[in-house]
Amino acid sequence: MMRRVHLLGTGGTIAGAQPDPRHTGYSPGVYPIETLLTAVPGLGELAHLSCEQVVNIGSQDMDDAIWLALARRVNDLADDAVIDALLITHGTDTLEETAYFLSLVTASAKPMVMVGAMRPATAISADGPGNLYNGVAVARDPGAPGRGTLLCMDGEIHRPRYATKTSTMGASAFSSLLGGLVGVVQTGRVHWLERAPPVRAAHFSISGVERLPRVDVLIAHAGMNADLIDAAVAAGARGLVIAGVGSGNMSGRAIARLTDAAAHGVTVVRSSRVPRSMVLRNGEVDDDHHGFVAARDLNPAKSRVLLQLALTATNDTRLIQEVFERC
Ligand code: GLU
Repeated sequence: MMRRVHLLGTGGTIAGAQPDPRHTGYSPGVYPIETLLTAVPGLGELAHLSCEQVVNIGSQDMDDAIWLALARRVNDLADDAVIDALLITHGTDTLEETAYFLSLVTASAKPMVMVGAMRPATAISADGPGNLYNGVAVARDPGAPGRGTLLCMDGEIHRPRYATKTSTMGASAFSSLLGGLVGVVQTGRVHWLERAPPVRAAHFSISGVERLPRVDVLIAHAGMNADLIDAAVAAGARGLVIAGVGSGNMSGRAIARLTDAAAHGVTVVRSSRVPRSMVLRNGEVDDDHHGFVAARDLNPAKSRVLLQLALTATNDTRLIQEVFERC
């Protein structure tokens, strides 16, 4: 029986328009999701399709309010007996953040596949139609249920926890780094590389959560000074993620100021600006002594997402470290 796949459009380059395909200038988030669907030959033969527009923006403008609204809509649709699977179109710039957020606050056996594109819908060799075709093929695949949120780009199927944008050139923009791929899909043929895990409860409940706490990300560099740390704390940040050098390190000046911030209730997470990294507790930096949390291999942008959610439940550094070990 044909499965029913519901699509939610949020914008991005996949919905982008380039006035002249000979020039690079274009705007993301122009075409509505209905228009994108009708441009893909054979899509309606893969599944019964329905769609809705959530927002139509460049994903750099995604924010907590949209994330919460999108997650609530996804949770409602996951409970809707008429729908078998979901697909979300999204800009690639923050695709990994939204995908990771949704993976933490939703839990359903129904597949949810996120797709984007690197070239606008009007480009000479637009990659959006192929990504949509493969995304729907993954969403309706009998092996997809139970795998939760997936990110599908250029024939590769990623978990949000590991997927990250590693290139701004060409269609193969995402890599799964330390985590590896879940599967691959070629012209609608899906090949899973691992078994589906058991469905588990969502890591976080967003019921009653109106907004997420402010968490800022600061990038470390040689000789980092403390001024931006002070500015973030003064602006009301409840958490700070440091995209540290190497294994989440930073200058002595920055460490001293962050130790002080941590002692005053600001949660400090050490992540790394290095794409392939593992920031372990109490390495070169003594987290026990400074009151910091180590992000392991979670990148700075996703560490921010996780810390925002963790802070809705607790500001106990020991418990937040456990969250970073588990999620
Ligand atoms: N900055 C835009 C966005 O993330 C375009 C990038 C893209 O989708 O590839 O939506």
